[in-house]
Amino acid sequence: MELMSIGKFAKHVGVNVVIRNLYKRLHDIRTNHLHQCSNEIVKTKPSRIVMEHLNVKGLMKNKHLAKAVAEQKLYEFKRQIQYKCEKYGVEFVEADRWFPSSKTCSSCGQIKSGLRLKDRLFICSCGLKLDRDLNASINLANYSI
Ligand SMILES: [Zn+2]
Repeated sequence: MELMSIGKFAKHVGVNVVIRNLYKRLHDIRTNHLHQCSNEIVKTKPSRIVMEHLNVKGLMKNKHLAKAVAEQKLYEFKRQIQYKCEKYGVEFVEADRWFPSSKTCSSCGQIKSGLRLKDRLFICSCGLKLDRDLNASINLANYSI
């Protein structure tokens, strides 16, 4: 619905209906985006996909993060990846919830317990200096049960 027509539509059916329709449309756009992303990932046919266990319930308790976390639909994303892995014969692994993917050096294995969320660069005494998320991704790729 274009913006010009939303005003006329709102007068006719009421603002609440318009807002409800916009939320539904946003929901559909997000779900569609998740399908596109999960398709793109699984259809590259990796030998396996390792996903981090995210403590969504814990994140939801943080009032600053709750809305943003809920909108990201993380459970739905995991659900899609899981069933698409099954469909395309890709091994799906969920890392243990206590696996320190971000805090472990992907080069020497040393665990850096003092790493904070705002530290975007992983710097280890062994000389490794890497983007935090890339370091965590390497650790997840090497994850073994
Ligand atoms: Zn290291």
